[in-house]
Amino acid sequence: MTSPRIAIAGAGLGGLTCARVLQLHGFENVTVFERESSPDARQQGGIIDLHAGSGQEAIRAAGLFDEWRALARFEGQEQRKVDPATAELIEHEPPEGDFRPEIDRGQLRKLLLDSLAPGTVRWGLGVGAARPGEVTFLDGSTATFDLVIGADGAWSRVRGAVSPATPQYTGVMFVETRHDDEQLLGLTGQGTMVADDDGLMLWAQRNSGNHLRAYACMRADEDWRPSNAELLELYADWHPSLRAFLTGELIHRPLYALPVPHTWEHTPGVTLLGDAAHLMPPLGVGANLAMEDAADLALAIAEHGIREGVRAYESVMLPRAIDAQERTNAGLLDMVPERPIRV
Ligand SMILES: Cc1cc2nc3c(=O)[nH]c(=O)nc-3n(C[C@H](O)[C@H](O)[C@H](O)COP(=O)(O)OP(=O)(O)OC[C@H]3O[C@@H](n4cnc5c(N)ncnc54)[C@H](O)[C@@H]3O)c2cc1C
Repeated sequence: MTSPRIAIAGAGLGGLTCARVLQLHGFENVTVFERESSPDARQQGGIIDLHAGSGQEAIRAAGLFDEWRALARFEGQEQRKVDPATAELIEHEPPEGDFRPEIDRGQLRKLLLDSLAPGTVRWGLGVGAARPGEVTFLDGSTATFDLVIGADGAWSRVRGAVSPATPQYTGVMFVETRHDDEQLLGLTGQGTMVADDDGLMLWAQRNSGNHLRAYACMRADEDWRPSNAELLELYADWHPSLRAFLTGELIHRPLYALPVPHTWEHTPGVTLLGDAAHLMPPLGVGANLAMEDAADLALAIAEHGIREGVRAYESVMLPRAIDAQERTNAGLLDMVPERPIRV
């Protein structure tokens, strides 16, 4: 019997995990269609802490647990909270156990990519739209498949095949900066440092190679693009060593989320996973869930076949996603409470 033809839109952590687990279970006709032109077309972002029970189980299902452990930074579990006015440490969680060690997103993605059969990913062939069992690519061509999996992230083009939902602005803006400075590294520690005060937050994370990413977080209008001077003015009461995180190039990241609950009627021939299914505020679970969805979907297909496997996967994934969406929406409100910020 020929192996079913499975199209996966998107070579993110979710899409690649799904392809890998399917291939491990003998599915030979799996193709990942990725809009970007190559694996290195874009810098892959910060760090991901894979949680025991979700992301770690997915990487185990992908047969890559030992390789992941060899790259994971267990010391990256350190959490520091500092006083915004004095920069003094007020809460400290030393890195203990192995619940959520950190890894650079680029390293994790490369681990998954290198594990796939050669030619699995079609780079530079983006999906424009999908219907059950059919993909129309951005170059206008179409192809048919036994199953189309939308793993194409927040602005998924596959999602329209099952749901009219689109992401909405959460009202919260992250402004990202990057640093290699010794003093800022010292303040951050080995893992994550946070400080918050009256609706403003600063959050810094050590990546591998002694690089840092920091995020200033606040409620603001969707189209606000503050300059360094405007940010420094907003954080005027903060300690100079913390305000130093607000210097350098700024990357503005307005945060979007899908409405809750986001569900759909089971539709044979197409399904979604990860952010395409349940985009939520980035409070440390999105990538874990994307990988967990991916492994669950692939394992369900391996056990029950495509038709029943997708149905079984959706019956587990959808309630789990709603629960995580509700928790992260509440967490975002808690993290950056309502406060009118000048825009
Ligand atoms: C600042 C920030 C920090 C975060 N930190 C964490 C964290 O610490 N832990 C955590 O668990 N989660 C974190 N998240 C959330 C996490 O990044 C996402 O939930 C996760 O990446 C979702 O994975 P995915 O595979 O579903 O989608 P994505 O990672 O978005 O991958 C989608 C892929 O599809 C491709 N694509 C898009 N459109 C098309 C198309 N039309 N055709 C073909 N390909 C397409 C994209 O190029 C991309 O390669 C964070 C998010 C942000 C914004």
